[in-house]
Amino acid sequence: MKKQIGNCTLELVQGDITQQDTEAIVNAANRTLLGGGGVDGAIHRAGGPSILEECRKLGGCETGDAKITTGGNLKAKWVIHAVGPVYRDGKHREPELLASCYRRSLEIALEHGIKSIAFPAISCGAYRYPIDEAAKIALSTVANFIRSHDGIELVRFVLFDRKTFDAYAAAFEALE
Ligand code: ADP
Repeated sequence: MKKQIGNCTLELVQGDITQQDTEAIVNAANRTLLGGGGVDGAIHRAGGPSILEECRKLGGCETGDAKITTGGNLKAKWVIHAVGPVYRDGKHREPELLASCYRRSLEIALEHGIKSIAFPAISCGAYRYPIDEAAKIALSTVANFIRSHDGIELVRFVLFDRKTFDAYAAAFEALE
């Protein structure tokens, strides 16, 4: 699925984030930036030890923020490590923090001249964010960002399983 927003293509695919050929891929990291399961484990396995070596020097990352390393052995030149919120009850700033980690990732991409970027469904795995809600926030935040900033030409959401893909597809269709 694809949509054009200004100069940017917004795309949804089902697949594996580690295999993407965008200039940057985004990691669903945790605050330590020292590795974990899910997307994080897959990126470090596929990208090799140099990513973790760089991460060690970054001193962790706050929830809602993101930090960048190179991509090691990945096709992507860069990995942007974004920390989404752990979902509790929706009353602990979860929507705001989830939106923020998408925005921060895109800001960092712009600062590095990155024109193509792939995101996973941040917070939708171990962090248990309700997927329909997360999908709406992810897509509207990214769409608003690319409407108001020039420079990014491709944003691809890479959803691992069918259920997550379908939820993102519904939010994608509903985008203004
Ligand atoms: P979080 O801790 O932010 O919830 P997870 O990595 O546990 O992050 O999960 C985030 C989402 O990424 C989930 O939908 C999960 O199914 C998905 N996922 C897991 N591995 C991959 C992968 N290799 N590529 C893309 N998405 C993945």
